[in-house]
Amino acid sequence: MASNFDLITCITGLSQQHLIQRDDGFKLQPEASQQFDAMATAAKKDGIKLSIVSAFRSYQRQAQIWQAKLSGKRTVYDLNNQPVCLESLNTRAKLNAVLLFSALPGASRHHWGTDIDLYDTNAVASDYQPRLEPVEYQVGGPFFAMKKWLEQHASSFGFFMPYKYYQQGVAAEPWHISFAPVADQYQQQLSCQLLAACIKKNPVAEQEAVLMHLADIYQQYVQNICR
Ligand SMILES: [Zn+2]
Repeated sequence: MASNFDLITCITGLSQQHLIQRDDGFKLQPEASQQFDAMATAAKKDGIKLSIVSAFRSYQRQAQIWQAKLSGKRTVYDLNNQPVCLESLNTRAKLNAVLLFSALPGASRHHWGTDIDLYDTNAVASDYQPRLEPVEYQVGGPFFAMKKWLEQHASSFGFFMPYKYYQQGVAAEPWHISFAPVADQYQQQLSCQLLAACIKKNPVAEQEAVLMHLADIYQQYVQNICR
C-alpha cells in the first residue's frame, strides 16, 4: 500500500486496491485468499466443502444495508430472531438494534477482505440458500460439522471467529471467520477518530446520532470481539 491515506480508504471499505478477485467471484486480501484455499483443501479431505457466502463488502454497500434497516425497508431481528419494531425505539436504541447484526459503514470487518462468511455446500442440496442463522450452525443444523471443524482447524491457517460468542456487542455469528495476521493489523490502524472523519465525508443514515454516540459504538461493536 502506497500511503497512509490508501490504507485508511482500504480499511474503511472506500477502496479495493488491497484485494484480489478470486475465481469464485469474491474479493479477498491476497494472503487471506491463499490461506482460505489451503484451509478449504484440508477441509475437503474431511468431507467438508467450505464455500463463501460473503467476503469483501464496500462502504457504499454497507451504507445501503444500514439505510435499508434503519428505514424499515429491511427487517431488523433481535437475538431471538424476532423482528424488531424500530418505530417504538429512541434513536440510540434503534442504532443498537441494527448494530446487533449489521456493522456501521466504515467499521465492517468485511471491508478488509480478511473476513468471510461460510457454509458447507457438501451438507445441503445444491439449490440451498444459506440464511446465516445460528440454527443452521447449531447441533442438528446442516453446518454444525463445519463449525466444529473450523473450531479445531481454522487457527492452523490463521483464521479465528471474532463473533464466536455474544458478548453484548455483535450477535454470535458462527459463520464468520477472520484472517488474524492481516485483520489484526487493520484493526490496530482503525480508530474512532478515523471512523468519524470517514463518516463525516461519506454520509450514512442517522449520521448525527451515529457521530454523537460513536465512541460507545466503537467500543461496544468494533473493539469488542472474541479473541
Ligand atoms: Zn460476516
